[in-house]
Amino acid sequence: MKIAIIGTGYVGLVTGVSLANLGHRIICVGRNKEKIFSINSGKSPFFEPGLDSLLGKLVKKGLITAADNLGKSVASSNFTIIAVGTPTIKGKIDLSEITTVSKQIGKALKNIKEYHVVAVKSTVVPGTTELTVKPLLERYSEKVIGKDFGLCMNPEFLREGNAVTDALNPDRIVIGRYDNKSGICFSKIFDKSPCPKILTTLRTAEMTKYAANSLLATMISYSNEISRIVENVGDIDVVDVWKGVHLDGRLSPVVSGKRIRPGFLNYILSGCGYGGSCFPKDTKALLNFSKRNGYTPSLIQSVVSINETQPERLIALLSKEFGSLRNKKIAVWGLTFKPDTDDIRESPALSVIKLLDREGAKIACHDPMIKKIKGKLTHLPIEINESALGAIKNADGLIVVTAWGEYGKYLPETFIKDMKRPIIVDGRRIFNKEKFEKAGIIYKGIGLGN
Ligand code: NAD
Repeated sequence: MKIAIIGTGYVGLVTGVSLANLGHRIICVGRNKEKIFSINSGKSPFFEPGLDSLLGKLVKKGLITAADNLGKSVASSNFTIIAVGTPTIKGKIDLSEITTVSKQIGKALKNIKEYHVVAVKSTVVPGTTELTVKPLLERYSEKVIGKDFGLCMNPEFLREGNAVTDALNPDRIVIGRYDNKSGICFSKIFDKSPCPKILTTLRTAEMTKYAANSLLATMISYSNEISRIVENVGDIDVVDVWKGVHLDGRLSPVVSGKRIRPGFLNYILSGCGYGGSCFPKDTKALLNFSKRNGYTPSLIQSVVSINETQPERLIALLSKEFGSLRNKKIAVWGLTFKPDTDDIRESPALSVIKLLDREGAKIACHDPMIKKIKGKLTHLPIEINESALGAIKNADGLIVVTAWGEYGKYLPETFIKDMKRPIIVDGRRIFNKEKFEKAGIIYKGIGLGN
């Protein structure tokens, strides 16, 4: 089948690659000529493990191309998938990219003779597909929904850093459909995918995505709430608390004598808070959406507020040692919102930098993706280091924000040798407290009782 995908970001391109891998012919539609050139050369414009090699193979086979002509791409396809951005502005979802492309798709549908299905993959608040996308498609195509074209909502659950694996092996495929014809037709795209498929209403599909993301965000803020309780009490280590909690057979069952450790447990750990392009904006959009519908979800409100204040805990731990941070050189390890991605959107590191700057500290940063993300950091008051050791050289303190695997490999001696004062605030608890303290390091960590 021929599928046009509008948006060549993390979701659009990875979806394109996974559908091309199922044998479909994909046109990824973007606005940026450089990105289009890069995709057509088999190179991903952003880092995602495994993406370059698979994209390269599929481009060679002619199964995936990129173009900037939306109208032509839609007109030459059987399906159109919308994967543009849906940021929040002042806590409210911004649908401007959705409305722009809905109008353009509508215009393209006008000249199509065959039945065509449009599916919204972007995360949108319940009612958007029916009340925003549908009227625009009808108006600009001058066609009849149900007869001339179909409409679906197909939320995406991939995780950045694991996106290719997630998209190639989805846990489930949720399809909200305007009518049965749209749902049956669109679900044919996934015939070769063995995972469970849920056919439901448009709004249920839209809500499923928010419920899933809010659950994971809630687990993270809940874990950080527990760490805050612990930090005010003596002799408790939250790392051991979570070990004890995780071993509950309902969370990690023993099957055939082997303990299964579900990925869900990664969200029940204390740290610097969640970031990225989804959890922060989606929790806020859901909060705003629900309030507008007459209910204030106090739990989600707390989830957001705990997350927004979590970076302050790191600065507080550091300030306890120094009093004032003015003119102290503080190293920050990890700028991406999590390991294995080059995405810094809403990263907790950005809040940490802002707070350190406000305190007058001199900030030296490192991230394993520094070469890729450098261009996005020019507005920040930081010294950029291409090596982790460069950042800690003569530093008064270090804050670990992102749990990149390579950071965990450093031995205590490195910090003793290179730092002016070996004070470490471990925001992800990647180092062994006892070993580090024994070596003479002043070790502070999230979720450590005094
Ligand atoms: P992104 O910002 O990386 O990509 C969006 C792309 O849409 C950009 O490349 C932008 O140039 C393009 N675009 C916008 N308007 C366009 C237009 N008129 N014509 C052509 N292209 C246009 O965003 P993303 O991370 O890929 O997310 C896309 C959607 O998927 C969002 O709604 C997001 O919430 C949702 N989502 C994201 C993830 C994730 O992990 N990133 C996971 C699940 C769902």
